[in-house]
Amino acid sequence: MNVRDSERLATVLASFGHEVVDSEDVADVYILNTCSVREQAEIKAVGKSRYLARKKLRKGDVLLGIVGCMAENLAENLFKLNPGIDFIVGPRCIGELPELLSNGNINRVALLGEAKADDITESVHNFSRRNVCASVSIMQGCNMKCSYCIVPKTRGRETYRSMEDIVAECEALVKNGTKEITLLGQIVNNYGQNTLANGNGKSPFVQLLERIDSIPGLGRIRYMSPHPKGFRRDLIAAHARLAKLCPSVHLPVQSGSDRILKAMRRPYTRARVLFIVEALRNCAPNISLTTDIIVGYPGEGEVDFQETVDLLSAVRFNMAFIFKYSPRVGTISATLPDDVSDDEKDRRNKVLLDIVQRCSIEHNETMVGNEVEVLVEGKAKRGENKLCGHTKYGDKVIFDGHDTLTGEFANVKITNYSTTVLCGELIGV
Ligand code: SAH
Ligand code: SF4
Repeated sequence: MNVRDSERLATVLASFGHEVVDSEDVADVYILNTCSVREQAEIKAVGKSRYLARKKLRKGDVLLGIVGCMAENLAENLFKLNPGIDFIVGPRCIGELPELLSNGNINRVALLGEAKADDITESVHNFSRRNVCASVSIMQGCNMKCSYCIVPKTRGRETYRSMEDIVAECEALVKNGTKEITLLGQIVNNYGQNTLANGNGKSPFVQLLERIDSIPGLGRIRYMSPHPKGFRRDLIAAHARLAKLCPSVHLPVQSGSDRILKAMRRPYTRARVLFIVEALRNCAPNISLTTDIIVGYPGEGEVDFQETVDLLSAVRFNMAFIFKYSPRVGTISATLPDDVSDDEKDRRNKVLLDIVQRCSIEHNETMVGNEVEVLVEGKAKRGENKLCGHTKYGDKVIFDGHDTLTGEFANVKITNYSTTVLCGELIGV
């Protein structure tokens, strides 16, 4: 979501006559897009903003702005933490940044909270280059109150874009060469809840998926980040029905302990998670599943932790993001004692990472010798003549080839692997 925010910010500023440059040395404005989900993200961003303030002092005549969730979360305190900051803009006001920059005379300006007007940057993409894979934000904000989470404070309540707008944006992307679209939202599968009507037992989100699935020329659809509560029958069945919907789902479970899930205010149980997993696997065999887990939530005992260990071992997620619990001021759980020590959080983190790595290696091992279809995204970061792309299951694949293949679906035979990447040989397109 932050990557998409940065992209639309850069593109909209370019349309106002600004230019994105490669180096801080030649920039007139430094804009730092930030995250607040964990304290570590904020510590890093404040550190980077101090580095930029020092650069600004040496260079003179440069503006420094902080945008995104940390701007909203720390608000005017940021000016005290770093007196070199000239403006702060929360995630809902990103569309007002071009106007702010055209005003000149910017001295500790804060654009926070709700935006003054509709965000004109929402559907903006850089059409001057081809984006094989593009992200489309379909909603903003989150109405849940997970006890640990700062997002509802920084991004506000849920607002949904119109289906017409979203479909038009997807069509424009496809016309420009996009082959894969990822729909984005904090609870993406909550799209349109209580504002758009269900039709034939299908939620607005599933109706939207159907419309995007029928766009000619589009190859794949993904969505991020769904919530387990939104995996009802219609969405699960969509994975069997919709040809372009990738057999790859992120199912952020956070914990395998019902006691901890309740304390976190996550409205589902471990049994429900297992039911969803089985239903998805019945609809889309070999579907790839990933998850988010928090270790060391207040009061998480060894028994609770073992339930998470068991859940990971039982489901065999293809990948999991494991986070050490980080108290965020302003959330419900920040008032509870952070009673799992750092060392113990580290230990639990490592135990879970080991399980995930083992599952990942075992999966990658079974892929050797298989022929897979890869959507070529472009040159790999490392290696001469190496191309990089993903399978519909989300496996990253690297192979030798010419970058004229970018945007094509290539058949690749898997010959080797590491923990996170499959390596292969091009067979054809
Ligand atoms: N809307 C998504 C998650 C958004 S935040 C959902 O509901 O699943 C991304 C991930 O960051 C979360 O899934 C959670 O695992 C992690 N996270 C959020 N707040 C956290 C905190 N205070 N400490 C540690 N991890 C946190
Ligand atoms: Fe945060 Fe996700 Fe919970 Fe919303 S649903 S409060 S974004 S963890």
